[in-house]
Amino acid sequence: MASVWVFIEEVDAAPSVLGLELLAKARTVGDVTAVYLGTGSDEAFAVLGEHGASSVLHADAGGRLPSGPLAAALADRIADESPEMVLFGQAYTDRDVAGRLAARLDVGVLSNASDVRLTDDGVETDHEIFGGSQVATASSSNGPFLVLIRPKSFPAEPIGGGAPSVFTLELPEVDGSEARVVESHVEEREGPQLGDAAVVVSGGRGLGSADAYDLVEKLAKPLGAATGATRAIVDAGWVPYAKQVGQTGKTVKPNVYIAVGISGAMQHLVGMKDAGTIIAINKDPDAPIFSVADLGVVGDVHKVLPQLIEALENR
Ligand SMILES: Cc1cc2nc3c(=O)[nH]c(=O)nc-3n(C[C@H](O)[C@H](O)[C@H](O)COP(=O)(O)OP(=O)(O)OC[C@H]3O[C@@H](n4cnc5c(N)ncnc54)[C@H](O)[C@@H]3O)c2cc1C
Repeated sequence: MASVWVFIEEVDAAPSVLGLELLAKARTVGDVTAVYLGTGSDEAFAVLGEHGASSVLHADAGGRLPSGPLAAALADRIADESPEMVLFGQAYTDRDVAGRLAARLDVGVLSNASDVRLTDDGVETDHEIFGGSQVATASSSNGPFLVLIRPKSFPAEPIGGGAPSVFTLELPEVDGSEARVVESHVEEREGPQLGDAAVVVSGGRGLGSADAYDLVEKLAKPLGAATGATRAIVDAGWVPYAKQVGQTGKTVKPNVYIAVGISGAMQHLVGMKDAGTIIAINKDPDAPIFSVADLGVVGDVHKVLPQLIEALENR
C-alpha cells in the first residue's frame, strides 16, 4: 500500500479544514501519515484519526518561523521512510514548506491541483484551466511527489478512524531558524467565515460604489450568509482583500452563491463555480455569469436588491 503524507496546520487549536480535506483524498490513495504543525493535543490527534490518519508526525515550531526547520526535518524523514507522495494545501505555509522541501529533495512541485492519482509510472494531477471549463493533466515520475491541492477540492468528512500513533518530529536549527514570529493578528470578521459559509453573497463593480456594498451586507444578514467580492472592487478599495473570491482570492463552495453585479470573468468563476446553486443578478442579459447561474435575475441591483432585502426581512 502506498504511503501518503499530508501536511496539516493547526488553526484555533484544531486541524485546519484544508488539512482535513486533504486527508479525505489521501485515505483513498494509501496509508496516511499526517504531518501536523502546531501545539498539538489528544483532541486534535483524535480528529486526524477520525479523518483517516493512521499516524501523526507532530512538529511544534514554538515561536519560530516554521517553514525552513520543518522542510529540513521532513527531508531527512522522507529519506528514511520513502513515502510515495506528500500532499499540501494551496495555502501560504504549505507553499513555503513545499518549495523548500522540493529544493532539498531535488524534485518538482505539482501546484494548484484539483485532483491527484498515483499511477504505474508515477503521479498524475488535474489542474482546472480557463475558469474551470477545461482540465489539464500533469504528470511526474520523479518522486517523492509533492503536490499542492486547491481548497475545496474534496469534502472534509470523518470516517470514524481510531486514534493514530503519534511521533514527534524534532525541528533542527537551519539557516533562518532564528526568524521568529513576533506578532500575529486575527482577521477581524463578523458573521460566518467566507470559506466555510453555507450561503455567500458577493458583490461586484455593478454595485456602482463602495457605499452600495451595504446592499450586499443587508442581503447577507437575514440569510446568515458570508459576504464576498470580486477583485475589481477589492482593487478599487471598496472592501478588504479577505473578501476576494476567485483565482487570486478564496475558493468557496457554499450551498448557495448569490452574485450581485458581477460579470463572471473566468478568474472569478474559478473560485465559486462549484457552489450548489448559483443565483446571479445583473442588468446585462449577456453577462457571462448567467452561463454558470442556476437562477438569473436580469435587472438593476439598485432596484432588485432593496425589494429582495425587504421581502426577506418581512419573513
Ligand atoms: C491574474 C488575474 C487574476 C485575477 N483574479 C481574480 C480573482 O481572484 N477574483 C476576481 O473576481 N477577479 C479576478 N481577476 C479580475 C477579473 O478578470 C475581472 O476583472 C473581475 O472579476 C471583474 O469584476 P466585476 O465582475 O466586479 O466587474 P466587471 O467585469 O466590470 O462587471 C460588472 C458587472 O456588473 C454589471 N452591472 C453594472 N451595473 C449594474 C447594475 N446597476 N445592476 C446590475 N448589474 C450591473 C455589468 O453588466 C457587469 O456584468 C483577475 C484578473 C487577472 C488578470
